[in-house]
Amino acid sequence: MHSLTSPFVASQLALRAERLNDVRLQPEGEFVLYWMQSTHRFEDNWALRFAVLESDRLNRPLLVHQGLDPTYEHANDRIHAFILENARELARRAASAGFAYQFALRRRRDDDRRVVDRLAARACLVVTDRFPTAGIAERTARFAARAPCRVVAVESHAIVPAAHFAKEEYAARTLRPKIMKLLDASLEPAEDRAARRALPDALWRSLDVDRLPIATLDDAAITREIARCEIDHAVPPVPREFVTSGRDAALARLRAFCDGALGDYERRRADPTDRAGSSRLSPYLHFGQISAAEVARAARDAGPAANVEKFLDELVTWRELALNFCLRNPRHRQLRALPDWVHRTMEAHKDDPREAHYSLAEFEEARTHDPLWNAAQRELRATGTIHNVVRMLWGKSVILWTKRYKHALEHLIVLNDKWALDGRDPSSYGGIQWCFGKFDRPWFDKPVWGVIRPMSIARAYDKWDAAGYIRQWEERAS
Ligand SMILES: Cc1cc2nc3c(=O)[nH]c(=O)nc-3n(C[C@H](O)[C@H](O)[C@H](O)COP(=O)(O)OP(=O)(O)OC[C@H]3O[C@@H](n4cnc5c(N)ncnc54)[C@H](O)[C@@H]3O)c2cc1C
Repeated sequence: MHSLTSPFVASQLALRAERLNDVRLQPEGEFVLYWMQSTHRFEDNWALRFAVLESDRLNRPLLVHQGLDPTYEHANDRIHAFILENARELARRAASAGFAYQFALRRRRDDDRRVVDRLAARACLVVTDRFPTAGIAERTARFAARAPCRVVAVESHAIVPAAHFAKEEYAARTLRPKIMKLLDASLEPAEDRAARRALPDALWRSLDVDRLPIATLDDAAITREIARCEIDHAVPPVPREFVTSGRDAALARLRAFCDGALGDYERRRADPTDRAGSSRLSPYLHFGQISAAEVARAARDAGPAANVEKFLDELVTWRELALNFCLRNPRHRQLRALPDWVHRTMEAHKDDPREAHYSLAEFEEARTHDPLWNAAQRELRATGTIHNVVRMLWGKSVILWTKRYKHALEHLIVLNDKWALDGRDPSSYGGIQWCFGKFDRPWFDKPVWGVIRPMSIARAYDKWDAAGYIRQWEERAS
């Protein structure tokens, strides 16, 4: 285990930390502020480690602040509930982990929105998460431009620091050999500990923050808080039978997966009716409730080599390819992010007749002609994710059933970002753009697809128990 002051940690932080403004550090500041935005955990959190080290170096206490606003894209009960329930767990664990943690809930758009600014005015520096999606990079850049002190963003999403890949990678095959070479070194475990100086009570009380007493809220109180927020109440929380927010639940799921399906991952992940066949960790990974490095270490410790390799290919190569795409390509939500061959083929096929046309509302309400597609949409609405095999078909079919490629992309982004608990993630845009040919190569020319890899929903009926899958989600809808 490397200590926080080891050369290993220093070299990781040198790669992961980025200074976002030219304002100097304020040595007279009262504390170091860690503004927790995308990495909702105390463990294996590189931004928090950086903040702890700065706090020790400056001999100032550390304050961990998390806030939740109603202004993020598609703000809804589902996403709010997942964040709030995890925040409750963090608040309950904070004292024993040695952190001064607070949570502020801005319920309405016109409520106080300058909490972080006021904290920054008293801080030596602000450390926050580096994350390219969910509006976080934009929000952080706006904040850094007006902050009265130094702002540093630190990336914790990737196992292998994203800075190793300064340019956009174009396919899994270009990234895989490079990233796998760096994997062992990046997986070395490092110490997690609190800052040396505790935050004095008087200082804590003097902060001008309307804290939510989140540690004391029961489920009903959280539901009441959510009801008071100015967000979309038509997207309900995901029932606990499908996913429970929080690190404890994430670790339990990781253990169950390592003891169960991991040993037969390659085969079991191909069956959408096998709900335990893959890890189903994507919501936890998206919100940073668990780190990808912890997942990779546990998988390596548990499984037979061939299946672990396949799992790490998804968890590391594909996941970090998506991160690289979103960090290096500012147009990752637009067709313009796609390679030239895709644009040429879309131009040639843009007027091909489509077998069906659906509006966004028809897709959203699972009202297409195809029962399998509708079942996939129902799975998304019920559970907040879709099985990977079906997710590919789900995405590809929207291309076939929308008049313009551009609208197909827009529809998929809304459907996924609004309903998926793992949505608004780099892997969201990597996965959706893959349906349009990103990271792929040209195939044989076909109507509508052009040379984009086709995928037929009709074939799925022969490959796996599609009828069983449809039944499963029809029952949920009734
Ligand atoms: C149209 C479309 C949309 C998608 N949207 C999302 C999304 O919003 N959020 C999301 O996390 N993934 C998305 N994916 C990728 C993939 O479908 C999910 O990551 C996976 O199904 C999650 O299930 P799991 O946790 O059981 O994965 P496992 O098979 O257990 O894999 C472990 C982890 O590796 C990562 N991973 C697995 N497959 C991929 C992949 N192909 N690309 C990138 N990372 C991967 C995920 O973090 C996942 O949790 C999308 C794929 C497609 C085709």
